[in-house]
Amino acid sequence: MTYSRAGGAEGAAEPARETAGDPTAEPALEAAWAELVATARRTVADGLVVGTSGNVSVRVGDTVLVTPSGVSYDRLAPHDMTGVDLDGRQVLGTLVPTSELPMHLAVYRADPGARAVVHTHAVHATAVSLLVPELPPVHYMTAALGGPVRVAPYAAYGTDELARGMLDALAGRTGCLLRNHGTITYGASLDQAYDRTAQLEWMCRLWLTASSVPGHSPSLLTPAQLTEATERLRGYGQRG
Ligand SMILES: [Zn+2]
Repeated sequence: MTYSRAGGAEGAAEPARETAGDPTAEPALEAAWAELVATARRTVADGLVVGTSGNVSVRVGDTVLVTPSGVSYDRLAPHDMTGVDLDGRQVLGTLVPTSELPMHLAVYRADPGARAVVHTHAVHATAVSLLVPELPPVHYMTAALGGPVRVAPYAAYGTDELARGMLDALAGRTGCLLRNHGTITYGASLDQAYDRTAQLEWMCRLWLTASSVPGHSPSLLTPAQLTEATERLRGYGQRG
């Protein structure tokens, strides 16, 4: 019997993985980037920002994907993925990360449960930031943000001072207003962070509308009513 060596299975080793060590090849990052770009585009489509103002981030492990500075969200492609570590060092991409990086990173460092941050210049919310130190509790959705939403003091955009003021205003909350600037909210997902921004802007619009009627002042929820709303919201969404 002739024994042929041809076709032996011994040489069939795993092909070398050219992409090993390239973090952009990770599907989780690619999916998160696609979701981030969609969320950033939604802030424009829904009128929460104009042009490239505002920014969005999402945390995947110890990497924070962020919208780059000054690039139209319509033009962002998969290869534009921009990411930093929790100290702000760029680990993915070549585009310059958003100038509001200090605020985004401060949120992730302060709350390990934070997985996404949305910052906008929504017009009604920014208008409220010019008028009061705290959005009056006009609606039970106040409870969805942890309680009456505070206004952080004004500081120049992109500064650590702004990030510190924001953290103080966020104590016990998942969103705050930034005086003469805009909004910031966070959540366990991009959808949740985005929804909190939309609810905050809607409540600001509601309060401005009601408080603009001459001779009347809006009725506000009591702390007990807000506590009750918090309890009810905890069960919301689990009843199918
Ligand atoms: Zn801004």
